[in-house]
Amino acid sequence: MENKKYVYLFKEGNASMKNLLGGKGANLAEMTNLGIPVPQGFTVTTEACNKYYEDGRKIAPEVIRQIEEKMAELEGISGKKFGSLENPLLVSVRSGARASMPGMMDTILNLGLNDATVEAMVKLTNNPRFAYDSYRRFIQMFSDVVMDIEKRLFENKLDDMKEAKGVKFDTELNADDLKKLVREFKALYKKEKGKEFPQDPKTQLIESVTAVFRSWDNPRAIVYRRLNDIPGSWGTAVNVQEMVFGNKGETSGTGVAFSRNPANGEKAIYGEYLMNAQGEDVVAGIRTPQPIDKLKEQNAEIYKQFEDIVNTLENHYRDMQDMEFTIEEGKLYFLQTRNGKRTAQAALKIAVNLVEEDMLTKEEAILKVEPKQLDTLLHPAFDSNELKKANPVAKGLPASPGAACGKIAFTAEEAKERAENGEKVVLVRLETSPEDIEGMVAAEGILTVRGGMTSHAAVVARGMGTCCVAGCGELKVNEEAKTLQVAGKTLTSNDWISIEGSTGNVYAGAIKTVAPEISGYFATFMSWADEIRKLKVRTNADTPRDAKQAVEFGAEGIGLCRTEHMFFAEDRISAVREMIVAKTEEQRRKALDKLLPMQREDFIGIYEALEDRPTTIRFLDPPLHEFLPTEAEDIETLAKEMRLTSEELKSTIEYLHEFNPMMGHRGCRLAVSYPEIAEMQTRAVIEAAIHVRERKGYNIVPEIMIPLIGEIKELKFVKDVVVETAKSVMAEKGIEIPFKVGTMIEIPRAALTADDIAKEAEFFSFGTNDLTQMTFGFSRDDAAKFLKDYYEKKIYEQDPFAKLDQIGVGSLMKIACEKGKAVRPDIKLGICGEHGGDPSSVEFCHNLGLDYVSCSPFRVPLARLAAAQAQVKNKR
Ligand code: PEP
Ligand code: MG
Repeated sequence: MENKKYVYLFKEGNASMKNLLGGKGANLAEMTNLGIPVPQGFTVTTEACNKYYEDGRKIAPEVIRQIEEKMAELEGISGKKFGSLENPLLVSVRSGARASMPGMMDTILNLGLNDATVEAMVKLTNNPRFAYDSYRRFIQMFSDVVMDIEKRLFENKLDDMKEAKGVKFDTELNADDLKKLVREFKALYKKEKGKEFPQDPKTQLIESVTAVFRSWDNPRAIVYRRLNDIPGSWGTAVNVQEMVFGNKGETSGTGVAFSRNPANGEKAIYGEYLMNAQGEDVVAGIRTPQPIDKLKEQNAEIYKQFEDIVNTLENHYRDMQDMEFTIEEGKLYFLQTRNGKRTAQAALKIAVNLVEEDMLTKEEAILKVEPKQLDTLLHPAFDSNELKKANPVAKGLPASPGAACGKIAFTAEEAKERAENGEKVVLVRLETSPEDIEGMVAAEGILTVRGGMTSHAAVVARGMGTCCVAGCGELKVNEEAKTLQVAGKTLTSNDWISIEGSTGNVYAGAIKTVAPEISGYFATFMSWADEIRKLKVRTNADTPRDAKQAVEFGAEGIGLCRTEHMFFAEDRISAVREMIVAKTEEQRRKALDKLLPMQREDFIGIYEALEDRPTTIRFLDPPLHEFLPTEAEDIETLAKEMRLTSEELKSTIEYLHEFNPMMGHRGCRLAVSYPEIAEMQTRAVIEAAIHVRERKGYNIVPEIMIPLIGEIKELKFVKDVVVETAKSVMAEKGIEIPFKVGTMIEIPRAALTADDIAKEAEFFSFGTNDLTQMTFGFSRDDAAKFLKDYYEKKIYEQDPFAKLDQIGVGSLMKIACEKGKAVRPDIKLGICGEHGGDPSSVEFCHNLGLDYVSCSPFRVPLARLAAAQAQVKNKR
């Protein structure tokens, strides 16, 4: 007999039990402890959810037994009885994971209603309209969430009824209409399921709890988890809470509120509510809600109480709160509180303000901003000149800042598909729902006809940092015909549209976007991050322009300059090709002579952009297939230049063809075959360094990095070429400068023999793109095609090329660090694979004791913050 506790009354929990009770459950418990008016209830734990999956998607009898036990206790607390014909207890059933996943999982309200209890509610409230409105909502939600019957079928019936009655709003339907609707809904249920709508409240409850567990693994939840780095193993809790009703007439209502403005961080209560409504009405965006200030006018006393609780909660949690409340016949209840989602701008302002208000220390404040959010600050706004000339055709709500421009996509699938084909699209919908998540991710921006600032579109877009204009009622969208009518124009999928998330303006046509400026709160906040972090942040940059951009974003040097990227330019590619297809050393040297001055100029530009900051230059690492000519025209031109016949050149190209270029003649292998390539690059690196030292006085210490090493003798061979060339260049110039030679660790064998490698290498930089590819044994170019099957089957939850595989690849890194340090205690350690810009991977690198991470320029601020957070969480 098991005796694990799977169900907790709210009063048995507290805020620290988030892992077990989920965020919502833990906070309901905490609010209960704080004496805030919370309808009482209980939480079924995340462990019960995990058990459901362990048991092959079956809810355990022990869990059912404990739910029934707590239900009986809740009856005692509320003085009502589940299924009673005198005073029936009705409950809501809601999901609540450890991390909030807005709109990703499902909620059921008014549970406990059936043909008999609805009549009891009629008698009890003397309000048949209310009772039947609640019942029809319950049937619809239960059918949709638990039984998977399409919501649309019910909505169509509701719309038909409204049309037949000639009314616009649900609130205009009377009790008889709703009673009729209930009959129609039940008939629909029977038609779809072949059985009657379940009348037993206990069955309704257990089925609903099970459905919430099941929803943890629905496709949209899996996508959301992958985007937000939430492990599937967390599971969700389920909260069962006594219903209070916002739809009992004009003295009842419901709303959502934030203790500060979630869009700009301003310190003022911000929210929306609707009278005579249930929660779903506010969020679904079917009726447009009122701003919270109106409540002050409508009922000053309630507003005062509301304001006091909001302040209590913010002070208690020391963070901006996002709350749901309901007023039932003039009595206020809080149904939920959590740390509110916010835009990046708001997050920075709130974090800085909370330190200024002495609510948080700098260390605590650093944890209040999601590193990935910073991205949005670095993203475009409209070009001001173009904007001046443009006239908005409509205005909606400024739901999520930024600017976006793209062609119109009318469905999420269309947005996703067209974006995958390289088109820029703006997703235009009547309203969005959680099923739209992938299309929303793919779109440049989101525009909806319905919904308020807290609608699904607005909340999700803010979280993702995607520009969003919501509730733009002036648009007439026909999703079937794929047309949008506005200001006398009809736009189709071929037309451009531009939207501005900070004003709500909508423009027909394309407006150029420009990179934003960063200042104010961002600078203050980032200076704190820089004070705290131990890990340095460098950038992967191959041009002076990128290097400058990265320095502006706070990069402390270059961790990876991919020299082959300099060769894609039109005026160079032919010289590079000439070098690759050369059959003799003489031919190759001729091509290299053409490349030398270009390389030297590149390096001069980069050194100058970086001033005194360190620069790691990686020697040529071109998978050959990226460079070989394929077009007949290119082959002909190149043949002419090399005084070959096209046929001769074609046969060389065929000879060079590789079955697996990623594991082919690339990296240091090229320099082993053709040392003259390393000679030329060394000459360019050293000559440029001497030039800039002499001209600008910068103390340049080039770091030459040899790629794709798997064997110490390989490194030794190339290093000897480098050192000899460098010496002879310095002798020619009559000046000695310091330089370093190191290597990338990107082949498992290099990691495993790092003690040998460290004898020659003055630094290691983990090339985790290749290291991941070689450790998993799947190609970084092809894996995406089948990884989606792995996500679906829950074999992998994350793309290992985006988020470091700490267990496998991470172990190799750990071995390499330990072995490297044992031989060369002062060896410099860094990472330059894509993972250098992923927050959880940055934390891993911090814990591993690396000296720096290196990432693309736009991710530098993110990495600085992630490094600071890693230090706060794991003091080093
Ligand atoms: C790597 O392999 O991680 C790396 C940085 O090199 P590249 O992506 O150029 O192969
Ligand atoms: Mg590599």
